[in-house]
Amino acid sequence: MNSPTTVPATWPIALKDITIHPVVEQQGGFFEVFGFFPSLTKELFDANRSWLQPTFVDPDNRLVLCIQSFVIKTPHHNILIDACVGNHKPRPTRPFWNMMNSDRFERALGAAGLGVNDIDYVMCTHLHGDHVGWNTRLENGRWVPTFPKARYIMSDRELEHWTAREKENPASVPWITDSVLPIVAAKREQIVKSDFAFNEQVRLIPTPGHTIDHFSVLVGRSGEDALITGDMIHSPLQGKYPEIGMMADYDSKQAGLTRRKIFDRFCEEPTLMCATHFPMPSTGRVRRWGDGYKFVAAGS
Ligand SMILES: [Zn+2]
Repeated sequence: MNSPTTVPATWPIALKDITIHPVVEQQGGFFEVFGFFPSLTKELFDANRSWLQPTFVDPDNRLVLCIQSFVIKTPHHNILIDACVGNHKPRPTRPFWNMMNSDRFERALGAAGLGVNDIDYVMCTHLHGDHVGWNTRLENGRWVPTFPKARYIMSDRELEHWTAREKENPASVPWITDSVLPIVAAKREQIVKSDFAFNEQVRLIPTPGHTIDHFSVLVGRSGEDALITGDMIHSPLQGKYPEIGMMADYDSKQAGLTRRKIFDRFCEEPTLMCATHFPMPSTGRVRRWGDGYKFVAAGS
């Protein structure tokens, strides 16, 4: 598993008095593409192979994913969107994320000019293991908030759903046990609706389907803004074919409807997509492409 050594020149994104910085923990081919997209047929993949490989799917047919957070620096706050996989976390079903011990995340945060004490808010687009890991870190055998001054913004229904899952079968959701519930125990959570307006320039947009109450984050002012997608999309393949669901979706049909709705809303706008799991540079504008959508480079 590699991670880009340099951040492409497209970054950071500047929107008047706001900048957006990527914080990359990993990038590589983690999952075989047909397992990841269970409804993807060999025929459809072959028909799209020429533009997917090697950037988005590696030569072994594994989907190339970036595991990253974004930092939004506003005049008043530093906001971290999502928190990658984290260190020392037991993830027995995901060998490549199991018991990681790496300084990449903190180095990437440092490259954005920030340390853990500088983060004022952490926004959790959803509560999956590759988005909440750095919420906490291990200290003397206990999970404590990594960002001691931060409030952690989570959706009410999302937290309720995963808390119930954890109560029922903790072994099935270890990331809730070690990376979400300790935040609640430390009283650092801020529970909101998934359409919460943090302020005029930072607003949550409900994008349900991948999880029960997933949100994306719209940053900036109309005409000069960016959408941090979170996991409402995992690959540009789901732009061309919005109905293709991924293996861990809560409701793939709803996720497909969400993609159509969001891409339809932004496909004639200058809004930059910051697509969390797309390989670096992970950004572009969304435009129509037949019955679906494509992502075009920011400059075009
Ligand atoms: Zn994810």
